[in-house]
Amino acid sequence: MLKKYKAVFFDWDGTAVMSRKAPVEEAVKAMAPLLDEGVKLAIISGTTIENIAGGEIEKYFTEKQLANLYLGLGRGAYNYMFQEGKPCCFQNMIPEERILLNIHRICFDIHMELKEKFGFDTDIVFSRPNYCKIDLMVNNERGDNLFLQESELDILKKVMAEHGMEGGIKQLMDLADEIGKKYQVTVVPTCDAKYLEVGISSKSDNVNAIFGRIQEETDIKPEECAYWGDEYVGIEEGIFGSDSFMYTSVTASGDFFDVSDINSKNRPDWVRIIGGGVDSFLKFLCGQII
Ligand SMILES: [Mg+2]
Repeated sequence: MLKKYKAVFFDWDGTAVMSRKAPVEEAVKAMAPLLDEGVKLAIISGTTIENIAGGEIEKYFTEKQLANLYLGLGRGAYNYMFQEGKPCCFQNMIPEERILLNIHRICFDIHMELKEKFGFDTDIVFSRPNYCKIDLMVNNERGDNLFLQESELDILKKVMAEHGMEGGIKQLMDLADEIGKKYQVTVVPTCDAKYLEVGISSKSDNVNAIFGRIQEETDIKPEECAYWGDEYVGIEEGIFGSDSFMYTSVTASGDFFDVSDINSKNRPDWVRIIGGGVDSFLKFLCGQII
């Protein structure tokens, strides 16, 4: 039996719902009673608001429930609360255009370096608010399931090795850092095997902003918060997944839980492995109702 938390921060795809197109009713059913009780819930997702419950999450909750709901989206880019039942962005990390253009240049340079030096093909998604996504497995489609799949790790490592990149993911992250410096941008690269994402913010910025907001409204302490995700696992030693960014100097005394079933030694030592995917997270939420 887990303790009762006053605030729960959680990832969306792969943690609260199976995929972006999957029905949200189960998640909503588990969330609503907690919001009624005044428990703060914060969805912390790499995606943007259009991809959370079809861009209409407010339709699923009452105005009173929405007052306890927060969205931290776009890997650090946007933080929302709800006012009179409507989402309202209270903080963002959208860079000025000059910096955004440099992020694009950095990603193009990464693409070129991989192509020229190693004959390694990538595609780049540029249309994100403050980062780009470099597709490292251009021949491997994920379909609707946007979360990390175990076999992808092995495939990527194998393909990289075939192209003479023995440094693994660390090599890609270092390359991003190095090219970032060339443009005087401190980049925050993350990699989940299929995508190397390069931007200036991460889920750390979301949890810090939302926790700060909650602290302005309540006396909730860091140790009264839980953080759930399915991507804590790192691809390599010392490099952890996107949900591990929820662990910051502000949130560190909270409790962190991983619902992924991936068998890996590359998990941060502060996360508790629960496994069981979406079901297990929703069961936790239901168990939190007094
Ligand atoms: Mg996820």
